[in-house]
Amino acid sequence: MQEKDCIFCKIIKGEIPSKKVYEDDKVYAFHDINPVAPFHILIIPKKHIVGIQTLEAEDECLVGHMFYVARKIAQDLGIAPDENLNKGYRLVFNVGKDAGQSVFHLHLHLIGGRKMEWPPG
Ligand code: AMP
Repeated sequence: MQEKDCIFCKIIKGEIPSKKVYEDDKVYAFHDINPVAPFHILIIPKKHIVGIQTLEAEDECLVGHMFYVARKIAQDLGIAPDENLNKGYRLVFNVGKDAGQSVFHLHLHLIGGRKMEWPPG
């Protein structure tokens, strides 16, 4: 289930320190060590999956759960859109090196707390 040399597997096991935001039996969420916005949280599955590029049909529900947890965390952080759809955050999977993926354990970036541009760089 977990990979020996994967830094995110080591974070889940507590072998590398992290600032935890949320945990349940399926996912772990923590502050990114190099935040690109006032709020930058990573939501990762406890199961080692390289990325969206290797996702299996059996992992569909797990990815849905990652999004649901992201929504709850964003609400708790106070960055979720209000009734007028003001405020907001971005959810990102970088898939492969050209897209900026540098850690090959699936992770959903939750980024917020500032206004963002589109298209991304
Ligand atoms: P990506 O570039 O999409 O693969 O995202 C990997 C993210 O992991 C980057 O935003 C890094 O800053 C973050 N990161 C790498 N090592 C750690 C760590 N030990 N603790 C927290 N975040 C990390």
